[in-house]
Amino acid sequence: MQSFPRAPLQKIYDRLYKTFGQQHWWPAESPFEVIVGAILTQNTNWTNVEKAIANLRGKGLLDLERLKEISLNELAAHIRPAGYFNIKARRLKNFIDFACVQYKGSLTRMSRRPMMKLREELLEINGIGPETADSILLYAFHKPIFVVDAYTKRMLVRHNWISRDSDYQSIQKLWMQSQGGDAAQYNEYHALLVRLGKEFCRPNPRCEQCPLNAISYSLKHKCRICHRAFTPQEVRQTCLSAPQLMGQDSTCQACARF
Ligand code: SF4
Repeated sequence: MQSFPRAPLQKIYDRLYKTFGQQHWWPAESPFEVIVGAILTQNTNWTNVEKAIANLRGKGLLDLERLKEISLNELAAHIRPAGYFNIKARRLKNFIDFACVQYKGSLTRMSRRPMMKLREELLEINGIGPETADSILLYAFHKPIFVVDAYTKRMLVRHNWISRDSDYQSIQKLWMQSQGGDAAQYNEYHALLVRLGKEFCRPNPRCEQCPLNAISYSLKHKCRICHRAFTPQEVRQTCLSAPQLMGQDSTCQACARF
């Protein structure tokens, strides 16, 4: 697929926005707090991150220079509620070292770097992967890049737009080619998808109540005889040849032969 269909992408956005309203992301008081949150939220839920950030704020440590001065062990103790605290303390220190060496500790200076150059640099920091790097770019520096996460991927797979083995880079490329949005749009869309994933498109999906249940999805696009989910090609074929069947169970070609 070269790009996602643009109209449904907009339709999904409109429905999510109408249902959930503006999400006001990222919940932080400064770019540095966004970066700390983006690193701490790896493999844990946001409630735990909030506790760790509250600890840092309570000690006046939500500041790059102050965090640079304290030891790794002290930092790990403060962020303990976020889980994997030794690893995450190291990752925070890695980011701080990078900021100090490359940008003299100035996030303003860092924010002036061209987006893709800065992305490459962030990805070279040990412990910073694509989702964290893009969260920093989008939410700390307001760069126009779309953050892909497990919620986004789950929704796209279930709606037959990508296969389960699609990787981060290809999903992001498809999305950005289709939406062509600015930072504000990417900001809101990602936040809405997270809300969708938490409330409806969960491991056990709540399709009946979901605002996207009128948009075709694979849980319904299955063969009514063998129950195999249709491939994206089969769904597209149905869309072209028999649009009235979209969203309904029908019969796959193999079963139709018998
Ligand atoms: S309709 Fe179902 S599969 Fe689609 S987003 Fe909603 S919960 Fe997920």
